[in-house]
Amino acid sequence: MLSFFYKYLYILLFITILICIFFIPFFEIDNSSFSQYTNNNFVFSSYNFVWPIPGYTNISSPFGKRSSPTSGASTYHSGIDIPAPEGTKLYAIDNGTVTFASWGAGGGYTITYQLDNYPDIKISYCHVSPIILVSLRESIHKGQVIGSVGPKNVYGIINNPYKDSNGNPTNGASTGCHLHFTIKYNNTAVNPLNYYDL
Ligand SMILES: [Zn+2]
Repeated sequence: MLSFFYKYLYILLFITILICIFFIPFFEIDNSSFSQYTNNNFVFSSYNFVWPIPGYTNISSPFGKRSSPTSGASTYHSGIDIPAPEGTKLYAIDNGTVTFASWGAGGGYTITYQLDNYPDIKISYCHVSPIILVSLRESIHKGQVIGSVGPKNVYGIINNPYKDSNGNPTNGASTGCHLHFTIKYNNTAVNPLNYYDL
């Protein structure tokens, strides 16, 4: 009688172990998908965003704390700076809707759009050309050219406080032609490189 009880117990234990082994992979999948949304260091390559300025990946000023490069520029850098010649085409990283396309003070001429598939993500391009190819509330598609890298100097802005060393008005707080690329998640700037597999 006792030996039958032990046999039964062993079988029960064996079945329990089998069930655990079967379910472990599911728990692991669950953990990793959770970390995608909680861990800031995770590479969000699954978003499959287009790089906004193809051919240019050199970053002259990274995201985060820095010493201000020019008067009026922030000490906490809300995006990344990618130097490129004036006129270099700028592409939409994903489908979206334009929420700003105008002069944006320190950012100079700026384009901002909200992503259709990720409404909590907003993208901004600063120091762009005054010739902006999209307008407010316009729907844009992934890979669409929406503007280009702006000139260092812009004229015609009344009371533009941003000037270069020669006293000429600049395209926002900027020392030269580049794209300032910002990604905001829930209105907080995050490192755009987190979203790319570079
Ligand atoms: Zn910048």
